[in-house]
Amino acid sequence: MNISDCKSVPGLNDIGYEMYRLITELYPICRSITGNGVRETLQVLKKHISIEVHNVPSGTQVFDWTVPREWNIRDAYVKNSRGERVIDFRKSNLHVLNYSVPINRRMSLAELRPHLFTLPNYPDWVPYRTSYYNENWGFCLSHNQFMELTDDEYEICIDSSLEPGFLTYGEYFLPGESGDEVLFSCHVCHPSLANDDLSGIALALFLAKHLSNVKRKYSYRFLFIPGTIGSITWLSLNERETSRIKHGLVLASLGAGDKFTYKKSRRGNAEIDQAVLNVLRHSASSYDILDFSPYGYDERQFCSPGFDLPVGCFMRTPNGSFPQYHTSADNLDFVQPSLLAESFAVSLAIVSLLDNNVIYANQNPKCEPQLGKRGLYRAMGGVEGGINELALLWILNLSDGTHSLLDIAERSGYAFDTIKRAADTLLDHRLLKPMLQ
Ligand SMILES: [Zn+2]
Repeated sequence: MNISDCKSVPGLNDIGYEMYRLITELYPICRSITGNGVRETLQVLKKHISIEVHNVPSGTQVFDWTVPREWNIRDAYVKNSRGERVIDFRKSNLHVLNYSVPINRRMSLAELRPHLFTLPNYPDWVPYRTSYYNENWGFCLSHNQFMELTDDEYEICIDSSLEPGFLTYGEYFLPGESGDEVLFSCHVCHPSLANDDLSGIALALFLAKHLSNVKRKYSYRFLFIPGTIGSITWLSLNERETSRIKHGLVLASLGAGDKFTYKKSRRGNAEIDQAVLNVLRHSASSYDILDFSPYGYDERQFCSPGFDLPVGCFMRTPNGSFPQYHTSADNLDFVQPSLLAESFAVSLAIVSLLDNNVIYANQNPKCEPQLGKRGLYRAMGGVEGGINELALLWILNLSDGTHSLLDIAERSGYAFDTIKRAADTLLDHRLLKPMLQ
C-alpha cells in the first residue's frame, strides 16, 4: 500500500465515525493513572483487539519513581445545608480533583475555598486538575457555579480510596517479518476529556486493528499507558527490548484543530522525523513542526538521554495550546469524526512509508540506462502511466546502496509514493536490487 492508497482507504469516513463511537463509549469513564477506570477502558478496547493487560504492584521501583497506590472513586459531592448537591461527581467526573484522598465532614465556605478550582477566564468551563503525588483533596467547578456558592455550612464527601494495588497498562504486539519495531504510545489516564486523549486511544486502536490485517515488514507495538508513570514503568520493565524500537510516535490530541502538529524526536533527524515531514509536506493539510523539548507527553521519557529513542509526537492540537485543553470544553462536541479520519489516514501513510522505505542499488550504474528502449522514457519531466520520469532519474542516480527511498524523496522534492511507484517500475525492469538491511 502506498500513501495515496492510504488516503482512499475503503470506508475511511466510516472509520472516522467508528473512532468517534469508541470515544463516546469511553468518555464517561473516570480514569486516572491507576485504578478501575483504566481497567474498564482496556476492557472496552479488548472488544476490538486482544490487548494484553499488565498489572504492576504499587511500590514497584521504576528508575527514580515508585508505582503509586491505586486510586478508586465511587462518589463525591458538596451538599449545601438544604441537602442539595451543589457540586456533583455524578454529573461530571471532572468535578473531583483527580487522586483526591477520602474526606467526609462539614465545613464553612471559607474552609472549603482553598480546595475549589475554577477558570475565571472561561467561567462556564470546569477545569481538570490532578494531585497524584501530593496528598490532597478538592473539587473543580465552573466559575459561574462557584460565584453562586453562599456563606453556608457544606457537607463535603469524597468516597475514594488510595490503597496498595496496581498500575495497569495495555500492550498490543503485532509481529512482522522483522523483529525491528515501530512503537505507538497513547495515554489512558484522563477522565472525561475527548481530544486529550481519547482521540489518541481511538487512533492507536484503529491503527492496530488495520495493521493486524496487512502484510508487515516491521513488528508493531502499541502501548495504552497512563501518562508519565506509565511510560517510565514500561521502559523500566522492558529496558532490554528497547533496542528493537527503530521508529516511534506518541499519539495525542488528534480529533480537533484544523492542522497537524509534529514534534520531532530528541535526535531531530531520525527516520521517523523525516517520514512524518515528508507525509505532511505532501498532504493537503496545513501543519506545524516543533523541535524537541523536554516537556509535553511521553516522548519526554522515550527521548530521555538514557534511551534517546527515535520517538516523535504526532498531534493536531499540542498540549496547552488550545483553550479547551484540560477543561470540560474538551468534550464530545469538540472532536470531529472527519478530523479523526484524516488523522487515521495520515498515520497510515506514515506507517506505509516506514514499511516501504528500502535502499536499492542501481544495477546499471555506469551512465544512465537507456530508458527509452524499456518503454520508460517519453518526455523529460512528463508523467506517463503514473510514472514520473524525473523521479526515475533521481532514483537511478541516488540508488548507490546508501540512500533510502525516503532520502531520495527528500532530495528530489517528490512525495514518497511518487518515488515508491517509480522505484517499483525500475525494480520490475531489473534496474534496481534491494540492499540487505
Ligand atoms: Zn493531558
